Amino acid sequence: MLSETASREIIKIVGQENVLTTPEERYCYAYDATDLTAVPDLVVFPGSAEEIAQIVRLANEHRFPVVPRGAGTGRAGGSVPVQGGVVLVLTRMNRILEIDLEDMVALVEPGVITGHLKKVVEGQDLYYPPDPGSADYCTIGGNVATGAGGAVAVQYGVTRDYVLGLTVVLPTGEIIDCGSRTFKGVVGYDLTRLFLGSEGTLGVIVKILLRLVPRPASRQTLAAGFADLDAATKAVGRILQAGLTPTALEFMDRGTLDCVREMLPFPVPDTVQALLLIALDGHPKDVAGRASRMARLCKEQGARPIKRAQDAQEAERLWQARRAISPATFKVKPAKIAEDVAVPLSAIPHLVSGVQEISRRRGLPIICFGHAGDGNIHVNIMYDRAVKSESDAAQQAVVDLFKLVRTLRGTLSGEHGVGLAKAPYIGMELSEAAIALQKRLKRAFDPNNIMNPGKIFPPDDF
Ligand SMILES: Cc1cc2nc3c(=O)[nH]c(=O)nc-3n(C[C@H](O)[C@H](O)[C@H](O)COP(=O)(O)OP(=O)(O)OC[C@H]3O[C@@H](n4cnc5c(N)ncnc54)[C@H](O)[C@@H]3O)c2cc1C
Repeated sequence: MLSETASREIIKIVGQENVLTTPEERYCYAYDATDLTAVPDLVVFPGSAEEIAQIVRLANEHRFPVVPRGAGTGRAGGSVPVQGGVVLVLTRMNRILEIDLEDMVALVEPGVITGHLKKVVEGQDLYYPPDPGSADYCTIGGNVATGAGGAVAVQYGVTRDYVLGLTVVLPTGEIIDCGSRTFKGVVGYDLTRLFLGSEGTLGVIVKILLRLVPRPASRQTLAAGFADLDAATKAVGRILQAGLTPTALEFMDRGTLDCVREMLPFPVPDTVQALLLIALDGHPKDVAGRASRMARLCKEQGARPIKRAQDAQEAERLWQARRAISPATFKVKPAKIAEDVAVPLSAIPHLVSGVQEISRRRGLPIICFGHAGDGNIHVNIMYDRAVKSESDAAQQAVVDLFKLVRTLRGTLSGEHGVGLAKAPYIGMELSEAAIALQKRLKRAFDPNNIMNPGKIFPPDDF
């Protein structure tokens, strides 16, 4: 619980206009995109690294938790203040400080909205590839802290591949720079990578130096429907092996298609059990050639129909439908547990058929879609929270899924992170020695455990 004295000190640091104190206001910062909630004692909108450092030093003195938060779109409960304390919302720190065309880098504050940065750099003929489905509203700081991925990871990689350097306020209040403006750099341990995906547990990221690449000259989008689910998942491996370098290779099962079918620019026959949505980037002539070969390959794998987006608008409608899947799934049931497991490419067919088996066993609809091109499938276990048997079955389905994924040599999370939601399960993937080492690292950074406590490691386990 935050003391009155600490609260007054914080208000002195940031100003009364940059804190929220009433229960109604604080409740708005109690959640993220999971259904986990915990109300913070105070919500603070800092304006600079120095203000954050002062708050963190106070936190060590008075022993209250500090929970960094971007836009709160996280899918693991990472920004939910499970032990109370201060939620530090980074959205005021939202300046693009520099775009350097010669060095091909951008220096940004953490509260910049990802989609905004993408548009601004595209206006300068450059490209910032990472594109989480939430790009229109999540922050770059949140992307770095979760190690966010997205659809184009197949060709371009994920957020981690674009972060050259960071400025971080450590849990002890010092401010450090790590990384470098060069594309290479091996001086000392790679602290930049350590902060990537650290989910706000090792420090508050206050500045981010990002690598940019040239803007692709053109993009083509294809949609390939399959009457056979197994044929669709098997086609993923064939497409990747064929050397046609897809930029994105997304998968939607029948349940997904039913949720977004009216958004698609063409009708999807009832016979279609799965759809692959494929993007190809490059010079227009090269892309046209690869798109034709891709269409042929999909046909050989049994795809019917195969549609090529006729223009940018039609392609955008397809990608809009893709981005709309997550909210549209609530047509099926009022609540869901959204997992983002990843498996080796050869295991995708086994994952999807295994999920169908879990769905039958637990008596719940489970919708699968996502980034098939890198084996990262979003498994959405749909249920009704008001029905206890369904809530229990949903929790059991999560355990079934994680067991299946580990058997297939996959990982519990491809891009959303552990946060609060998956903390009880990390022992299913990491050995005792690996967890113990990670805890020692956490203690070395944060001896008083004030920075986002209760995350990543199982509860009461610190
Ligand atoms: C519809 C939808 C689609 C999505 N699609 C994708 C997708 O395709 N790929 C993907 O990877 N994710 C996806 N997500 C999940 C989510 O958008 C990402 O995890 C995103 O990176 C979170 O950013 P945020 O600003 O909302 O962070 P928050 O949710 O506010 O925080 C996430 C974590 O980062 C920490 N954090 C935030 N800012 C900082 C900071 N400055 N310093 C230190 N720690 C910080 C928080 O403490 C927390 O642990 C999706 C979510 C939704 C709702």
